[in-house]
Amino acid sequence: MTVDRPRPAARAERAGGSGGPPGVLLLLSAAKAAPGFMPDDEGRALYEAARTVAVPGPLLEVGTWMGKSALYLAAAARETGRQVVTVDHHRGSEEHQPGWEYHDPSLVDPRVGRLDTLPHFRRTVADAGAEDVVIAVVTRSEVLAPLWSTPLALLFLDGSHTEESARRDQDAWVAKLAVGGTLAIHDVFPDPADGGQAPFGVYTRVVASGDFEELPGTGSLRLLRRLR
Ligand code: SAH
Ligand code: MG
Repeated sequence: MTVDRPRPAARAERAGGSGGPPGVLLLLSAAKAAPGFMPDDEGRALYEAARTVAVPGPLLEVGTWMGKSALYLAAAARETGRQVVTVDHHRGSEEHQPGWEYHDPSLVDPRVGRLDTLPHFRRTVADAGAEDVVIAVVTRSEVLAPLWSTPLALLFLDGSHTEESARRDQDAWVAKLAVGGTLAIHDVFPDPADGGQAPFGVYTRVVASGDFEELPGTGSLRLLRRLR
């Protein structure tokens, strides 16, 4: 095994360039390098939203995949002394199944005959040194929700994007946000030509509730602060 040269982030951090506790820049560069579905500008916006949230509580993500967005959240958690809880059954969404656009046969566990992203997630988080701030819950989000009562500082919705599951995640989780907490919704595409409409539907309903004020978003990431 060869020893890599320090990455730019590592050098900046040693030079005292992070402005935050040790490890934040390393987590951000690990997030950028991790496999997954989160462009770096959106990940950075998620990190900023999470580090600036003004109420106590954990950050909770629905839809872990291999831990990419969890690492952006982990950087904020490390910086602000919080933890990230990320829930996924690790069997993939509809579009990851055989015959669909994002299927990767190498992710199928041959013994079980289904996708398994959990080992990849564990590697991502271990490599990034984030096991202390990232807590994985392996189940369907709708199974965890009724067991969950701690008010959330930030909720990041990025699970299944069918109409039914997007609505279910909204119904199950949005009410668990603390007043003053931030709701982040990924893959919001107002134009159907750009992508599926289920996350946009969640966004539209949340805005229409009048309970949230919108913060500046980035790309397909929408950010909303709970007012009441
Ligand atoms: N946030 C990830 C991408 C998530 S992809 C990243 O940064 O790359 C969507 C994930 O949602 C998949 O891993 C899938 O297994 C998960 N998922 C789909 N339906 C779910 C459900 N009902 N409960 C929990 N996770 C679910
Ligand atoms: Mg997404």
